[in-house]
Amino acid sequence: MISGYKGYQIDAEITFGYSTFMDENGWEMDCNCESKNCRKRIKGFKYLPKEIQQRYLTLGIVPEFIIKELKND
Ligand SMILES: [Zn+2]
Repeated sequence: MISGYKGYQIDAEITFGYSTFMDENGWEMDCNCESKNCRKRIKGFKYLPKEIQQRYLTLGIVPEFIIKELKND
């Protein structure tokens, strides 16, 4: 299940931040979403820049299993 941090319209197209749901070592893939904020290459959360990690943590959109992994690193 995907829960958003703001309300979505029923027919809204959503973009999905894979990096907030992945914690695989060495996993990555190209992104073709065409967003102006696109990182072009998708990797696990721990590979995101620290300030972006912090922003997502502050927003409360990072799943518990990833927060746990961060504490173990
Ligand atoms: Zn993208």
